[in-house]
Amino acid sequence: MSAQNAPEGADALRPEAIEASTSAALAAIAAAGTMAELKDARLAHAGDRSALALANRAIGSIPPTERKEAGRLLGAARARVQQALAERTEQVEAAELARTLLAETVDVTLPVELQPEGAIHPIRGLIDLMSDVFVAMGWEVAEGPELEAEWLNFDALNIGADHPSRGETDTLFVEPVSNHLVMRTHTSPVQARALLTRDLPVYVICPGKTYRADEYDATHLPVFHQVEGLAVDKGLSLAHLRGTLDHFAQAMFGAGIRTRMRPHYFPFTEPSAEVDLQCFVCRGESVGNPDRPCRTCKSEGWIEWGGCGVVNPRVLRACGVDPEVYSGFAFGMGIERTLQSRNNLSDMRDLVEGDVRFSRTLKGVAR
Ligand SMILES: [Zn+2]
Repeated sequence: MSAQNAPEGADALRPEAIEASTSAALAAIAAAGTMAELKDARLAHAGDRSALALANRAIGSIPPTERKEAGRLLGAARARVQQALAERTEQVEAAELARTLLAETVDVTLPVELQPEGAIHPIRGLIDLMSDVFVAMGWEVAEGPELEAEWLNFDALNIGADHPSRGETDTLFVEPVSNHLVMRTHTSPVQARALLTRDLPVYVICPGKTYRADEYDATHLPVFHQVEGLAVDKGLSLAHLRGTLDHFAQAMFGAGIRTRMRPHYFPFTEPSAEVDLQCFVCRGESVGNPDRPCRTCKSEGWIEWGGCGVVNPRVLRACGVDPEVYSGFAFGMGIERTLQSRNNLSDMRDLVEGDVRFSRTLKGVAR
């Protein structure tokens, strides 16, 4: 029953009229199935223009003796309507919440498309690890172009025009050859660049890709990685080089691991040496001990690691550094080779084939 055709004035206060308005209100409230419908029912039957509200306003128009009874009936009716509204509101809210939960339910048993987890490549991981060792000592990481000027790759490093490594069997020249550009054969030109562009003293570590005209097999790659270090300062000697290498070896292979130097020749260092690493698996105990053979060092006790030496004064001069005032040391290692002995890899090709399962097995390299 709407307010428009409800009985007006004193008629609205007759008990039957109050009962009819109340029944209509309760029916509308019970029929409301959503909060919006409930709002409409509230407006129509409990609002200012509802039949019961209009009846309440009519109380003044009836004889005073009847007012008390009419007021009591009306009050009880309005209370019933309010209570019905409150109860229905609670029910509808609960039902709407249940509907929402049902609609937003996620079925965790449904199949999903799994994105396989990647892994840092062990070469990258080892470069980061090596860089951390030197950055912790205050060194800087230097990088340079892989396509390099022939002069920086060879001449600046005291590698003469007739040196065998400058032949096409070793070096990849980039056409036109008259531009004198090569794919760098080592990371040493980054050291030359560091001396030419940085203020002294210089302490840099240079990790990066290098290129050789080499076969692609289990022990050779035409593209591989090196890490080289260069320190140029006043008063540096072979002793500083030795201490640096020992620290590097221990950071990479474990406490107490020693290095040894064997005299060698490199054009850019004088004196020069090859660096061997004490076997970090048997620590030399396999030597002369056939009962305890060591695969890692082939029971020799030492593993070849890289080259090093005191920077040749001719290299310092070529890079504008006065060898009467400054001296320095340099060292270099193959990163694939280090990884091979450190992690017992049998086939170098695994390092370039890009199979993420291989990288995952060597996850520990990145620490
Ligand atoms: Zn060993």
